[in-house]
Amino acid sequence: MPVEVLDKAKAEMLDWHGSGMSVMEMSHRGSEFVSIAEDATARLRRLLKVPDNYSVLFLQGGAAGQFAGVPMNLLGGDKTSADYIVTGNWGKKAVKEAAKYGQASTAASSEDDSFTRIPSRDAWQLRADAGYVHYTPNETIQGVEFHHTPDTGDVPLVADMSSSFLSRPVDVSKFGVIYAGAQKNAGPAGITMVIVRNDLMGEPQAGCPMVLDYKQQADADSMLNTPACYAWYICGLTFEWLENNGGLEAIGEINARKSAKLYDFIDNSGFYSNPVDPTARSRMNVPFLLADDALNKDFLAQAEDAGLSTLKGHRSVGGMRASIYNAMPEAGVDALIDFMRDFAKRNG
Ligand SMILES: *Cc1c(COP(=O)(O)O)cnc(C)c1O
Repeated sequence: MPVEVLDKAKAEMLDWHGSGMSVMEMSHRGSEFVSIAEDATARLRRLLKVPDNYSVLFLQGGAAGQFAGVPMNLLGGDKTSADYIVTGNWGKKAVKEAAKYGQASTAASSEDDSFTRIPSRDAWQLRADAGYVHYTPNETIQGVEFHHTPDTGDVPLVADMSSSFLSRPVDVSKFGVIYAGAQKNAGPAGITMVIVRNDLMGEPQAGCPMVLDYKQQADADSMLNTPACYAWYICGLTFEWLENNGGLEAIGEINARKSAKLYDFIDNSGFYSNPVDPTARSRMNVPFLLADDALNKDFLAQAEDAGLSTLKGHRSVGGMRASIYNAMPEAGVDALIDFMRDFAKRNG
């Protein structure tokens, strides 16, 4: 979380704008909270330049909830199948969940290469009659990111953008659905944004729960049931912070600079390594290995002492992972590099 956002939340904690209430105490139907929700939604629309023919929803159930929500809304009628491009753990989970609700299949996967690259476009086995093509623009665990938006012709493109949401500009008009859990770049856990093209709503599967039905939620301004009010409010403050700091172009440049610095250091260190194809490296999550795994424990303990936390890599990948989301200042990346250089010198 950006410190400025936490500071503002702290200042408004007990009495939001003279209302005499904390945002946590408001009725979600009251004029105060409705204005907070509307302001956050408008800011997100401005940041992403969301076209008018798209709805912006703030739902619960996480990105994983949308693994089911997407097929339940988009498959049905004459659309029965969906193609998944799998470039890491999250895409693999998404296709597995979708297979409960339709014919979801893996059209391309880089699992044989330990998810260190993006399968070349010629090798994608796409079906022209598929209801949608799903991919994960940034695979959080493996640190693999698409630096372009795939072209899927007339078949709607669906993106699990959880870990790269708001990290750079995107052309929303190229997507059928974008969804993202807030907790990586947009706010606290507990709320999930769904941006959906209006013509894709309105024909959910019969078994679709109302809270996952895009059309019903859009018609109810995402308040079919009580929304995650406080999380929604904090997302709004984060959107405000982004707008005050130059929007997605500006944060995109900062993120490019932060990640390039770290990869350059790793590649030239002779001690650390990153296995990902350089054309598909993530700007948000940078996994790296030490020259000797036996040093991992020392590295983590000494990093913690230096004020650098949560560097342990996911158990399926091992090694380390630096997650350098929007809120991580450039100085934080510099501090990490200084520590890594020093550690390598002492142990190399
Ligand atoms: C974190 C993450 C998820 C899981 O999000 P939840 O909100 O916990 O369901 C899914 N996809 C990606 C790409 C993620 O980074």
